[in-house]
Amino acid sequence: AAKANPHRRTEFYRTELCEQAERQVALTKLLRKAVSRHQFRAYYQSKHAVDDGRLTGYEALIRWQLDDGVLVSPAQFIPVAEETGLIVEIGRWMLGEVCRQITEWRRLGYAFGRVSVNISGRQLTDPEFVTTVAEIIGRTGVDPSDLELEITESWLMVDPERSTEILQALRGMGFKLSIDDFGIAYSSMNYLKHFPVDIIKVDRSFVRDILTDRDSQAIVSAIIAMGHNLGREIVAEGVETRGQLDMLRSAGCDEAQGYLFSRPVPPEDVERARRMPLRQEAVAS
Ligand code: C2E
Ligand code: MG
Ligand code: MG
Ligand code: MG
Repeated sequence: AAKANPHRRTEFYRTELCEQAERQVALTKLLRKAVSRHQFRAYYQSKHAVDDGRLTGYEALIRWQLDDGVLVSPAQFIPVAEETGLIVEIGRWMLGEVCRQITEWRRLGYAFGRVSVNISGRQLTDPEFVTTVAEIIGRTGVDPSDLELEITESWLMVDPERSTEILQALRGMGFKLSIDDFGIAYSSMNYLKHFPVDIIKVDRSFVRDILTDRDSQAIVSAIIAMGHNLGREIVAEGVETRGQLDMLRSAGCDEAQGYLFSRPVPPEDVERARRMPLRQEAVAS
């Protein structure tokens, strides 16, 4: 029926687009307010060695906390934050918060490994970024090697030469660096060789299909072999089952992260687990 009346269809899409634009404007307004009030929280998801399941660190994942306490997932607001440039300020808050948390966990004597933070390409290419990072490190006194910065492959490929320069500066400051969501953009092997990163994080979509799809399995094995030959460590994200973990182990993957071990949790839960380290580490052994 929609096919029979093209005008009506155009009308429909026009209304859709308007509604979408209005929603975008409303969301931007709310987000701006959240930024000025720092209404965000850092959640943490553990990472584990594939061979024995020991804890190796955490990934910090941002949540937007609404007035009523409801948490909004980053998938719903990071894209808008990137389009409006608000990500620069949100990202600065997040890095500061994670550094504050690290110093607190150090003070409490927890063994939490390395903590990674996601950095948007919009932050990375902000001319103030390196200065901002240096300021946060100086203010909090965190050792940069306690931190890992995750940048997605898709962002790195927007301007690979520029990305390489900024990554080099960050690496020179002592940060560990990783390529996030690897395998879904189109990086050439040549760029991979030049990106000064320590870690490659295999995208969740390959891990999801690793037991059911031969191609995904082949791709994961190839990424692991190639990454190792280039001297990089490989982390698999989105590991949900023991079968997936076993497959990753036989492919030689170094670390894994996913619901099999833990969902992202608030810092209070990390602290509880760090006081009872054996319970968490027993999962995969
Ligand atoms: P990401 O960096 O690839 O983070 C992994 C995402 O996968 C997280 O979603 C995590 O909760 C989810 N995940 C982990 N294990 C599993 C699993 O076993 N199964 C499934 N189905 N999902 C799993 P989350 O927290 O919703 O974050 C989504 C994305 O938002 C992140 O993907 C990252 O790209 C972005 N993001 C999160 N925090 C920040 C931040 O502080 N700054 C920026 N720029 N981006 C962020
Ligand atoms: Mg990440
Ligand atoms: Mg990822
Ligand atoms: Mg991902």
